[in-house]
Amino acid sequence: MVKVENMSKVYRTGGGDIYAMKNVFVTVEKGEFVAIMGPSGSGKSTFMNMIGCLDRPTSGLYHLDGMEVTNLSDKQLAHVRNQKIGFVFQTFHLLPRSTALRNVELPLIYAGVGRKERTERARAALARVGLDERMNHIPNQLSGGQRQRVAIARALVNEPAIVLADEPTGALDSRTSIEIMDIFQQLNEQGTTIILVTHEPDIACYAKRLIRFRDGQVVADDPVRDRLFAS
Ligand code: ADP
Ligand code: ADP
Repeated sequence: MVKVENMSKVYRTGGGDIYAMKNVFVTVEKGEFVAIMGPSGSGKSTFMNMIGCLDRPTSGLYHLDGMEVTNLSDKQLAHVRNQKIGFVFQTFHLLPRSTALRNVELPLIYAGVGRKERTERARAALARVGLDERMNHIPNQLSGGQRQRVAIARALVNEPAIVLADEPTGALDSRTSIEIMDIFQQLNEQGTTIILVTHEPDIACYAKRLIRFRDGQVVADDPVRDRLFAS
């Protein structure tokens, strides 16, 4: 599904070159659930930006769902991003004046899906995250956990090849975090491929595999054996 080969990302700054990623090799198969950890500045965001087709590496290859994407034009890259990737962020990134349903429909509007099918698919995605009864509420009328569910439904609605989540529980209390992680776990059990960045070990424990970054390199890549820290 995801194959990163010998990827490096160099930022050239006045103070010299910064290797945000250095010779990284990572393969993620369909159906995996991967957590990414590492200290601040270790390259996690850079890696996620590359995987999410938001940026291009300085060198190396990236195969996404069987296609080499590093040589695509910006326009093609944006298309691949819309088709293949679902994003979930720490701060939800919902449109404040749009209902849950409209927020979830948004990727389908970009994809040119007709109105009726759009509404049906958005409803189905909201049902998957247990929010079908709140679909006409705007974000302000929803709790943090409910807003994140809307964001997850939006990430799913296009049936992406992978879901990328950057600190998805970072703005939530621990009880709500568990609810959200239970949803990710269910989605993964249903076959969704998930890559998630977190600082918290008890969140990482929901994943089946843990990759650790340090100084732009992968320093550990292991199965998560048991949920030692999970409550
Ligand atoms: P993390 O997400 O693990 O905190 P990042 O991927 O954001 O790490 O950053 C990795 C390194 O690359 C850091 O040293 C950071 O300061 C640097 N970096 C990231 N983005 C840029 C940029 N646009 N320009 C210059 N340096 C950057
Ligand atoms: P996160 O909280 O996800 O680790 P960061 O605070 O590391 O995010 O980075 C936020 C954004 O700023 C990213 O898009 C990253 O590429 C950029 N960035 C990080 N470090 C630098 C830097 N030293 N110079 C310029 N941009 C940076």
